[in-house]
Amino acid sequence: MEQRSIAFIGAGNMARSIIAGLITSGYDASKITATAPSKTRLAPLSADFGIHTDNDNLRAAQHADVIVLAVKPQLMAEVCLPLQAIDFSNKLVISIAAGINSARLVTMLDSQLHLVRVMPNTPALIGKGMSGLYADATLAPQDHQFASQLLQAVGEICWVKQEADINGIIAAAGSAPAYFFLFMEAIQQQAMAQGFDEQTARLLVQQTALGAAEMVQANPDTDLATLRQQVTSKGGTTAEAINTFNQHHLTEIVAKAMQAAVARAQEME
Ligand code: NAD
Repeated sequence: MEQRSIAFIGAGNMARSIIAGLITSGYDASKITATAPSKTRLAPLSADFGIHTDNDNLRAAQHADVIVLAVKPQLMAEVCLPLQAIDFSNKLVISIAAGINSARLVTMLDSQLHLVRVMPNTPALIGKGMSGLYADATLAPQDHQFASQLLQAVGEICWVKQEADINGIIAAAGSAPAYFFLFMEAIQQQAMAQGFDEQTARLLVQQTALGAAEMVQANPDTDLATLRQQVTSKGGTTAEAINTFNQHHLTEIVAKAMQAAVARAQEME
């Protein structure tokens, strides 16, 4: 991966995960700086990864080729204001803040930004993330590639063609870990109702979810419906369960939930 100097503005959980992924994949620690107002946040980052830390956002951003905006969305305007002093013409800006679109970022920083907007999800925290990325057609191919590699340090990526599609990424990936947790909670609760202790019920659902996800991954040429049919013998137990889901319109419920997530993302923009 190209070794550009990177400033992470906001050294929280997501920045830490990306930094960890970069270092693991051999990125030069001396090229990375992370900023936060508090030393307690920064000290473990320099101790664990050997990167630079700074509590001056402007200084860190001014010296970097790539600026990763990783503060909470509600702090973004306040954090960006002093950064307006920067000459952005040779810098790549990557924002991972949820719900702040490119138009707002341009207003907060500079009209000529080389900008990538990213929507990661929480499994990025363990290197298993799914990130959606958007940039307009003016982004240089080498910036496109750099942003891809940065997010590949914490999982898989998918570029979207229009910025509005980021809301689809939110519905299908950003918010979706919670859908799976909800489904797993429901299975765990029912397993407990059927007599298993909490720990055993958790193990049953956890290992089954992991096994199912890994079967999907191990069989890229088999569609999901076929994988489902392969465990559903006619007249058997799985068929009874699936029929019950269908009678209660599970597919429609999921569709409505994802549409509601998109509508909320649109409202928040
Ligand atoms: P976090 O709260 O862990 O980290 C934010 C960091 O910003 C903290 O370390 C804080 O010290 C620092 N900070 C606060 N004020 C600052 C300032 N003025 N200057 C510099 N740093 C400052 O948050 P996170 O979970 O890492 O999320 C970061 C961004 O990533 C958010 O915008 C969030 O929307 C986005 N995101 C996170 C997730 C996730 O799973 N955690 C998923 C999708 C998107």
